[in-house]
Amino acid sequence: NYVWRKGNLIERSNAEVSLEDRGYYFGDGVYEVVRLYNGICFQLEEHYKRFVRSTEEIDIPIPFDLLQFEDMINSLSEKNNVSDGYIYIQITRGEQERNHLYERGLDPVVTAFAKEAPIPFEKQKNGVALYALEDIRWLRCDIKTINLLGNVMAKRKAEDNACDEALQHRGTTVTEGSSTNIFIVKDGAVITHPANELILNGITRLFIQELAEKHQVPFLEKTFSVEEASNADEMFISSTTMEITPVVRIEGSFQADYSIGPVTKQLQEAFSEAVRPHQKS
Ligand code: PMP
Repeated sequence: NYVWRKGNLIERSNAEVSLEDRGYYFGDGVYEVVRLYNGICFQLEEHYKRFVRSTEEIDIPIPFDLLQFEDMINSLSEKNNVSDGYIYIQITRGEQERNHLYERGLDPVVTAFAKEAPIPFEKQKNGVALYALEDIRWLRCDIKTINLLGNVMAKRKAEDNACDEALQHRGTTVTEGSSTNIFIVKDGAVITHPANELILNGITRLFIQELAEKHQVPFLEKTFSVEEASNADEMFISSTTMEITPVVRIEGSFQADYSIGPVTKQLQEAFSEAVRPHQKS
């Protein structure tokens, strides 16, 4: 098992990070997760762009270009023999004696690993339950920071209530899951929270938007309330690892039940066709 650390592929057991890493003290860093289908990185450029954007937003200098990003991903997947799975990449600001005030010119610490991961076909077929709760996160959820305390608390709460994922709402506005974007379907149209500072603009979300346009499914980026969510015809979530997964039940601060409807199924099929062209789902 080989991991990436500061420009080198090394044995996982030899990979150490410093106690003075600002990621460790402050969660001062950002990350990306890219999916590999058949050893090939899906939506590589979009992930790179989002990675660069996140680093820029928190003033970390990006240490590599798209080609180097691609090389890192390919060498990790090849060396570890991962063909269907994902690569996790994170960058922290660097090492410095603990101080809220960061210095400029630190050497950023890039670490990455590869992991084989099956597609969650079962959940994609039968749907999942969400636990609805207040979104207590900060106001820059568009930055893919490793500082994920609100998200991890929401996820734990969901699991403790026998749900697969959280549905976070800020006041009455539904924002997103703990690690997924959320979509409702109403009268044939797909509706999802606008890509502003209150959600992470998922790469899968962007791809679903393209698919919807290609298949003439109306796609609206607008906020929707918990009430609209409970009255929706269908609901689904998306992420790099979940792809498109239907929601069949909501518990927590509000309750709802959904059946897996035609729009969700159509988008799931279009998604499968795009990433698994030779396999009938
Ligand atoms: N929202 C949050 C908070 C997430 O952590 C993720 C997954 N990283 C997503 C949405 C989905 O993004 P993507 O489709 O790029 O995986």
